[in-house]
Amino acid sequence: MIKPLPKTYDFSAIEPKWQKKWEEEDIYRFDWNDKTKPTYSIDTPPPYPSGEFHMGNALNWCYFDFVARYKRMRGYNVYFPQGWDCHGLPTEVRAEKVFNIKKGDLPPEKFIELCVKLTTEYIEKMKTTMKKVGYSIDWHLEYRTMNPEYYRKTQLSFILLYKKGFLYRTEHPVNWCPRCETAIAEAEVEYVEKTGEMVYLKFATEVGNLLIATTRPELIPACVGIAVHPDDQRYVKYVGKMAEIPLFGRKVPVLADEKVDPKFGTGAVMICTFGDKTDVYWQKRYNLPVIKAIAENGAMTSAAGKYKGLTVEESKKAIIADLEKAGLIEKREPLSQRVGTCWRCHTPVEIISKLQWFMNTRALADEVVAWTEKISWIPEFAKYRMLDWTRSLDWDWVISRQRIFATPIPAWYCKQCGNIVVAEETWLPVDPRTTNPSGLKCQKCGSNDFIGESDVMDTWMDSSITCAVHAGWPDNLETFNRLFPADLQPNGTDIIRTWDYYLMVRHLALFGQAPYKIVLINGMVRGTDGRMMHKSYGNYVEAQEVIAKYGADALRQWAAGGGATGSDIPFRWEDVEYGWKFIVKLWNAARFASLQLKDYNPKVGKVELTLLDKWLISKLEETTKNVTEAFENFQFNLAIEAIRTFTWHILCDQYIETVKHRLYRPEQHGEKSRLAVQYTLYNAIYRVLQLLAPICPHITEELYQLIYAEEKGYTSIHLSPWPTVNEALIDKTVEEQGNLTITVIEEIRRAKAKNKLPLNAPIKRLVIFAEEDKAAETLRITANDIAGTCKVEELNISAGKEETGFPVEGYPNIRFLIEL
Ligand SMILES: [Zn+2]
Ligand SMILES: [Zn+2]
Repeated sequence: MIKPLPKTYDFSAIEPKWQKKWEEEDIYRFDWNDKTKPTYSIDTPPPYPSGEFHMGNALNWCYFDFVARYKRMRGYNVYFPQGWDCHGLPTEVRAEKVFNIKKGDLPPEKFIELCVKLTTEYIEKMKTTMKKVGYSIDWHLEYRTMNPEYYRKTQLSFILLYKKGFLYRTEHPVNWCPRCETAIAEAEVEYVEKTGEMVYLKFATEVGNLLIATTRPELIPACVGIAVHPDDQRYVKYVGKMAEIPLFGRKVPVLADEKVDPKFGTGAVMICTFGDKTDVYWQKRYNLPVIKAIAENGAMTSAAGKYKGLTVEESKKAIIADLEKAGLIEKREPLSQRVGTCWRCHTPVEIISKLQWFMNTRALADEVVAWTEKISWIPEFAKYRMLDWTRSLDWDWVISRQRIFATPIPAWYCKQCGNIVVAEETWLPVDPRTTNPSGLKCQKCGSNDFIGESDVMDTWMDSSITCAVHAGWPDNLETFNRLFPADLQPNGTDIIRTWDYYLMVRHLALFGQAPYKIVLINGMVRGTDGRMMHKSYGNYVEAQEVIAKYGADALRQWAAGGGATGSDIPFRWEDVEYGWKFIVKLWNAARFASLQLKDYNPKVGKVELTLLDKWLISKLEETTKNVTEAFENFQFNLAIEAIRTFTWHILCDQYIETVKHRLYRPEQHGEKSRLAVQYTLYNAIYRVLQLLAPICPHITEELYQLIYAEEKGYTSIHLSPWPTVNEALIDKTVEEQGNLTITVIEEIRRAKAKNKLPLNAPIKRLVIFAEEDKAAETLRITANDIAGTCKVEELNISAGKEETGFPVEGYPNIRFLIEL
């Protein structure tokens, strides 16, 4: 028995009710033992636990969840994990602030404890929000990169890569953030346009002054040479001579090299160690000395003489002032330039030479390119970003960091001979900062006097093995073979060159295979002002705020409908509100149906459908086809659009409005006709719920439980199978006939409105003139629907031609006359 639904839908009570129930019943659990269903694994990105979950995060996770829910309904055993990329500098900084300490005040293990405490709190906060958005994450698969159980795997991957020869330790220039005081990878350098200043300096030589243009006069103390282009006639006479560095008096050689751009500045440039990557190249190529003028904290060193201790900026000012005084500056002019900055703190990065660990990623470039071409990228532009990035890399990946809260590098150095000893697998997890395992012995000199590595790993080392970890590596080979590579790698455009790239190189090096089959890219969310959503812009919206106002299902519709997959999408309250209005519309339609279905038995046998019933069913099947195709292609905007158009317009505005008379007056139209409407409504609404379930899991569950659960028998709509399209029910002729009827009815109603008559005003006589036999015939078939809906007492369909009367839009050969 179907009971009438309550008048209104209270999302604030119903959404949490189902979230709790789903969790209690554990319906999203991945079944490790099921070997009958195909698996579908999603390598969801582990976010950095900041405690916040804004609309940008919400969009990412909505995409993952749409796929997970859809695939589950398609019969897959879906692996939908959630991890946390815990390590990192921001947490260290926050821990210092929250606990009012300096990281040096405590032994590392105590400081790490505080970071763990803070991170755990932030994770809980984010988890709460994620549950409120209704994500169907399997929380049994949760992992935290800071846990020993996880970082054991990170360390194991380090050992394996070291044994395979992919890791090495050397002194090499690296990008360095003076604020974070750590090396950073190229992927972590963000280039920004800045207005700088080009300073033209005079260098004295024995053949006269040489004019050099530079944007970094503070690097004069680190100048080790001058370079000009070999074909540059202006400078031929200087090549091979020595030039004197202004203020410092040191002499450096003038070299000719193809890499100099004669059009830049004066065509003569300083080689400094290190201003940029070309400097690194020249220093190596000409075997020039390395002078470290900038220290790791960004202050000038003693190599800078009297400028020692000044910051880079201070030193720049002071050196320019002194050069001016000495009359060594020819001119100064503003210049727009690209400056590399730290992606975390936006401080300009320096290039500093330091002993670091590297992964030989360049050796894998060709393989990365080949696999990138082989797998699918949605949308395709993401593939080109990956390819361009891979081809642009000219340095190896620096994987060591000079931080505390991170995975320790499992290595020790022999105090006697400097030999490197990397941990045995059985020692893991291990922290060389605090532990010297008993088996530690130098293979070279036999000493057991060691110093543990104090550097730690780049956090991308933690998160770039997730595909393997999800599959059960290294503990379960059987599941690894089933679940690796991941079916889907979904993430934002912002981490293609980091996460997608690092995952690719790590897994290629470890397993010789790409870690994922399809990469699904989501765009970034822009604030209401069109700029990227950011706290400092004041356009930042938390997911909780949106849920409190309109509920999770409305939020999720915004995420689905906001734009094409991969494009940046704006956050607009109007879109969320529109989503909420749709929920209300759907609820009202279902409620209307529930009132009409009191005496309906879903087990009813054959029903006699009218043309309009068949018309609705044909459109429904077509919608099912389109929505399925959209989900298959990850086009969530097309899916939600198709569902909303069908429900709102075809089902509610058109079908329901034209069948009411059949429901209300069975004595006139017959019980069979009423039953046909009941049957059609019952099945159409169920289908809408099924199609909408991945996007709006709450209202669909509520309606399913109230109307359908008893008959269908699934614990949840989310455990019901995805509908299959019945092609036999798609009938273009029926659709055309139905469209004609609906249009005529709408025109008659419009005519009533024009004459200021209520919609239910009776019409004594209606004559419809349809010139073509086919149209006339259709209208005769649906005459009952027209008469019933428009309250027409006498309806004539005439095949004649008529010039007067009301026109019917889109049908130039049909007109009608109304007699009141
Ligand atoms: Zn930084
Ligand atoms: Zn030794």
